[in-house]
Amino acid sequence: MRDDGKRITVLGLGAMGTAMARAWLDAGYEVTVWNRTASRAEPLAAEGATVAATVGEAVAASDLVVVCLLDDASVEKVLDGADLRGKDLVNVTTSTPGRARERAAWVERRGARYLDGGIMAVPPMIGSAESGAYVFYSGSSELFAAHRDALAVPAATRYVGVDPGSAALHDVALLSAMTGMFAGVSHAFALMRGTEAAPREFAALLIEWLTAMAPYANGVATHLETGDYTLGVTSNLAMMVEGNGTLLRTAEEQGVSAELLSPFMALMERRLAAGHGDEGTTGVIDLLLR
Ligand code: NDP
Repeated sequence: MRDDGKRITVLGLGAMGTAMARAWLDAGYEVTVWNRTASRAEPLAAEGATVAATVGEAVAASDLVVVCLLDDASVEKVLDGADLRGKDLVNVTTSTPGRARERAAWVERRGARYLDGGIMAVPPMIGSAESGAYVFYSGSSELFAAHRDALAVPAATRYVGVDPGSAALHDVALLSAMTGMFAGVSHAFALMRGTEAAPREFAALLIEWLTAMAPYANGVATHLETGDYTLGVTSNLAMMVEGNGTLLRTAEEQGVSAELLSPFMALMERRLAAGHGDEGTTGVIDLLLR
């Protein structure tokens, strides 16, 4: 057994856990793996991983234990009963901020340090420095400092604070923004369906336009920092609500449901009705807060 800190245990060998374990193997780490369905460990065993027969055996093999399972319920099930005393547990299973905080307390009560992770990548991006893959981490800063190098092997790291829920919150906030983008792209393609525009060419236009519009987020940040939602506004709410009518009439002409657009438009109208026509759309955020 090596004692240079290059020893790691990975629990969970789905697509993501396998990719992460493989990255550590490729970087020369001594990797112990465990998976509920043992056959999924065979490829990694052939590449040099040690396959543990039980969770307890896997946890005992390394100080640093990485958990990458389907969901928080499977994490609880797998770790229940394992001796975690003195371990550094890094849980990269996708979860909510609240669940991550509960899991941190649950793990710490059992004598381990806890770091939560939110993976901003798909498995093929793992282990490739150029892919842009990274993982948000939050929780024990001591754990993060102690294992920074090891954690940076599968993907770049972004530590976002001692609150164990912070990584999940950052992860979900970005995924939520992405969901809105997917909705917009879906609506746009629906409008163009059945026209002579080639989907591939229209996709190029979409990418160009959405990239040009992305700095919108900086404008929102300025408004939130200053409390002045009119600063630097070039397209004001009154004008945009007027424009929404054109978007809706076009959807109708094209026989496309506006159900993906209308919730956001309704919020814009409410903010306008409250007398904020000179703002951009930042005021919608205030309407969302419950
Ligand atoms: P997979 O579906 O490929 O693998 C799921 C893993 O969880 C398997 O190891 C499975 O074991 C295990 N598992 C599920 N339920 C249980 C249970 N009750 N008890 C024990 N083990 C269980 O998922 P991924 O590897 O793709 O994802 C793992 C985590 O990574 C998820 O939280 C996901 O959200 C996150 N993630 C994944 C991304 C992706 O693109 N794949 C991107 C970003 C994050 P078994 O083999 O026995 O079924």
